[in-house]
Amino acid sequence: MTEKLKPCPFCGGEAAVVEIEPRLYRPVMNKPFCVLCTSCDLYFGYDYDYGGEFDTKEEAAAAWNRRAGDEGASKKEKDFGANEAPQEI
Ligand SMILES: [Zn+2]
Repeated sequence: MTEKLKPCPFCGGEAAVVEIEPRLYRPVMNKPFCVLCTSCDLYFGYDYDYGGEFDTKEEAAAAWNRRAGDEGASKKEKDFGANEAPQEI
């Protein structure tokens, strides 16, 4: 089984590794996998013209988790706590 994906750093939704169709412009450069947030439709590791960026599901999942961990929830929580007052609505 593949690595479990962290939640989307933008919306907290569930992410999934998806296999995509080769893109038109550079089919030879296309790789079959990217990560899609099933909640906000964010594509990670995907380029509209050039296709996916990952050869394997594991590679896509690992890259997503690295990025989600680095730029996502953990950093956001820390920054919120240290620097930002809660927003008044
Ligand atoms: Zn999302």
